[in-house]
Amino acid sequence: MKAVSTRLKKSLIRPVLAALILSMLLFLPAQAHLAWGASRSERHELYFYALDVGEGDSSLFIFPNGQTMLIDAGPEDAGRNVVKYLKSLHVKKIDCLVATHPHSDHIGGMIDVMDKFEIGKVWDSGFVLGSKPQKDFYLEIKRQKIRFGRPKRGYAEKFGDVSVEVLAPAKEIRNSPSDANNNSIVLLIKYGSVSFLMAGDMEIQERGTIWPPPGCTVLKAAHHGSRNGTDKKFLEATSPKIVILSYGKGNRYGHPHKETTDAVAEMGIKRFDTAEGTLRFKTDGTRITYRKDREVIRHEKQK
Ligand SMILES: [Zn+2]
Repeated sequence: MKAVSTRLKKSLIRPVLAALILSMLLFLPAQAHLAWGASRSERHELYFYALDVGEGDSSLFIFPNGQTMLIDAGPEDAGRNVVKYLKSLHVKKIDCLVATHPHSDHIGGMIDVMDKFEIGKVWDSGFVLGSKPQKDFYLEIKRQKIRFGRPKRGYAEKFGDVSVEVLAPAKEIRNSPSDANNNSIVLLIKYGSVSFLMAGDMEIQERGTIWPPPGCTVLKAAHHGSRNGTDKKFLEATSPKIVILSYGKGNRYGHPHKETTDAVAEMGIKRFDTAEGTLRFKTDGTRITYRKDREVIRHEKQK
């Protein structure tokens, strides 16, 4: 304030110059403030982005208090695009970086992300696959001395007014069709009456450990819309209004499976696919807004 009042005195002598200096002093910090955080938090809005990373997963939350959570970073070749997209949103720091499980379509892009953003802490599933992407991920965490945790079912944390609850893993699942998938971190993120169920690549075996699952507004469907992650039974139990399917067009797994998309359509749930491009949702804790033209209106059934 002292600097401002000094400038103010000068303004009596040279009004034009002083006004210019004053506006620089006052306006620049305000601009920087507005560019990140304040404009969002003042409106008390939560932003959710399901990124188009091809066949893989990456979701970003910008909480109303400005804190950020990135859940997975897509495959290695998507890492640079994830970085670019986050930068376009003026993200400076990822307060919580979540690796749902060690498959490369989820953690391949982590190195690029960790290289370009300050990371507050990492949440890891704790399932050790021993693959190169996972080894590199752990080494980078160690190198940067990033806080690291393996939260289990029952753990919850607040990010301002948003609560993040860990639904799974409860304990390590072994001898399932994919142990890496079945030890995914599954989160329930709640803001007011709006909730997001982020299912990682959870399959039926892990699903059994969270049964009955909580209801949600938005379901990031498990395992890229695979039949072993999202079926009618699960959709009935969670009754989402919106389902997000994260996959790459023409992937070799046939994701999303017809059983899943049939069930979504039958139940009249709004469906959004990252294969059509990155998706953006905004909520004030009561209403959720999105681009209506991004809703997928059942193209498979018409074939
Ligand atoms: Zn996956």
